[in-house]
Formats: sequence, C-alpha cells, structure tokens
Amino acid sequence: MYQTTHNGWMKRHVVMLSVGCTSAIVVFFVGVSRIQPPQGRHEALDMMDIDEVVMPLRQAPSSFPRGTYRPNRRESEVSGAIDLGTFSPGRDLTYVEDDRAWWESDNDSGDTECDHTVHHSLRLPLETTIQLVAERGGVLKVQDSYRPHLVHNPKSLHKEGRAIDLTCNELPLEELAKICWQAGFDWVYHEKGSRNNGPHIHASVAR
Ligand SMILES: [Zn+2]
Repeated sequence: MYQTTHNGWMKRHVVMLSVGCTSAIVVFFVGVSRIQPPQGRHEALDMMDIDEVVMPLRQAPSSFPRGTYRPNRRESEVSGAIDLGTFSPGRDLTYVEDDRAWWESDNDSGDTECDHTVHHSLRLPLETTIQLVAERGGVLKVQDSYRPHLVHNPKSLHKEGRAIDLTCNELPLEELAKICWQAGFDWVYHEKGSRNNGPHIHASVAR
C-alpha cells in the first residue's frame, strides 16, 4: 500500500490508534507524514549582497520646499501611527553601519542613544539615501533615529525607530528631501526646525 523510495527520505508513517468503546473499535489515522530531505543550505545575506540589491527609484519631485511634506497627507495616515503596545525593540530594530555616512551619536560623547539603530523597514531607504548622497559627493548626516525617551513628542515615530532626521552639508536640504523621496521613504518632511533643532529632513516608514 505504501512504498518507501529508494533513498529512504520519504517515509510514511501510519499510526493507527485503537480506542475501545463499549460497542465498537474506532480506528483513527493519526497521521501520514513525509520526511523531506534537508534543504540545501543558503548563505546568509551579508552587506555585500544588500549593496547589490538594485531598487527602483521614485522619480525626483521638481521641487520640495521647506515646510512641505510628501505625500501631502498626515504622517500617521501614511506611515501608520505609533503603537508601543505591539512594538518590540528586540524584534523590530536593526543596526545599520555605513562608513559613508556621519552618525551624530558617534560624535557626541554625551549621547547615550544610538543613531545606527533603526526599524528593519527603514534600513533599505536609509542605505539608498546614503548611496545617492555619496554619488553626489556628499556625506549623509544622521542626526536622530531611534529615540525611546523624551526629546521627540509622545507620538513620534522615532520611538519605534521608524523615523530618522537627516542633514547634509554638501547638498541643499531641498535636494536631500528629493533624494529621500526617491530612496523610498514612505513619508518625507522638509522641516523648518524648531528652537531645539535646525532645518532638517524628517523621513519615516510604515512598519
Ligand atoms: Zn524627526
């Protein structure tokens, strides 16, 4: 009834369980299973592979004036509101290192937070932005990324590592805003800045 293949990988198990009842014996087929041969091992993706991923870029907008954002909808509608109840730092955050960028926390001894720490979903647009800025002769400056405490408002996506604040000395901020949009961030804001910080690009991603 059941055959075993010559290589022995496909074993079939028929487990018959007999249960005595007062008037009959009921037979259950508990399971027929196949044991699969082991999968060929796949090499883990390393940074070299990620660099080689070609991501289609969005078209650059013709302008991106200070004080405007893209798309022209609220950030919470586009990137999704913060939800610290489902957010898990250990599961959701990753560490990005790239020598072509400048990281604020590496240059501020009084800073206890790490600007290399971002949400998984933010990695690819960030890496792409670093690349596009470098191609234009600039160095992307990562000013703020994951900020679990204070600094940003209570609903800030920085608290989930889904937002990042960027500047660049070599390029106009409007140009950087266009690049961030091209690189695939879901929501990009060319911020005027406030009393606490100067003009910068705030960019965020959906979970
Ligand atoms: Zn921000």
